Amino acid sequence: MKYCRFLADGQPLYGRVEAGRIVAQAVSFEALSFGSAVDLLLEEAELLPPVEPSKIVCVGRNYRDHATELGNDIPSEPLLFLKPPSALLAPGGSIWKPAITQRLDFEGELGIVIGKRASRIGPDEDVSSYIRGYTIVNDVTMRDIQKSDGQWTRGKGFDTSCPVGPVVTAEIDPILGSLTVETHLNGELRQHGETRDFIFPIPELLRYITAVITLEPGDLIPTGTPAGVGPMQSGDVVEVKIQGIGVLRNVVA
Ligand code: MG
Repeated sequence: MKYCRFLADGQPLYGRVEAGRIVAQAVSFEALSFGSAVDLLLEEAELLPPVEPSKIVCVGRNYRDHATELGNDIPSEPLLFLKPPSALLAPGGSIWKPAITQRLDFEGELGIVIGKRASRIGPDEDVSSYIRGYTIVNDVTMRDIQKSDGQWTRGKGFDTSCPVGPVVTAEIDPILGSLTVETHLNGELRQHGETRDFIFPIPELLRYITAVITLEPGDLIPTGTPAGVGPMQSGDVVEVKIQGIGVLRNVVA
């Protein structure tokens, strides 16, 4: 199944997506029976972030080539940080460039969406049963503030720093097969990565996180970005593409 969230007459709804169209709607994810039929082109819908997370647990430096491009060591265990839900930005929404930054970077990433409360997932347990699906995230970063603060809360947690969508899909399985993650800036390819190159694969990430943090349904886990991160300017169009999910497109205000 593939789904989005969208506004219909001012009301936020979940929509089941088939072949680029929203074909059924539901008021809440828990009511995902999608009883009422609807027929709307996905690209014409007023899309919302397709997740309503209690928290966004991000993974840093999960590709060797990205860790080294910023002069960092390859991590020996996953590097985690949080973004607040207030950072979420809809597909098509405008990324804000705060006046305090001179360098606002894109980071295209695969996002895991949790489907079932997960705490202390066991070493022999199948993590797939905790995953609702996958989406696309842009881990927008004020690189200079990230460095000067030391802590990453401002640099990666500011409003609009988490564009996500356009859909969540359960129709792909990056645990079994690799996905290509690409970022284009104004149409030019800037990042290209394969999720098989993760330093810490998805099952290991979920076991590591849930060893100490309980994940709730709807929680979002951006899995880290490949090499090629770079700055964006006002008016730039940034697109993160992942095969089988789609294109997350945003403009810098
Ligand atoms: Mg990142």
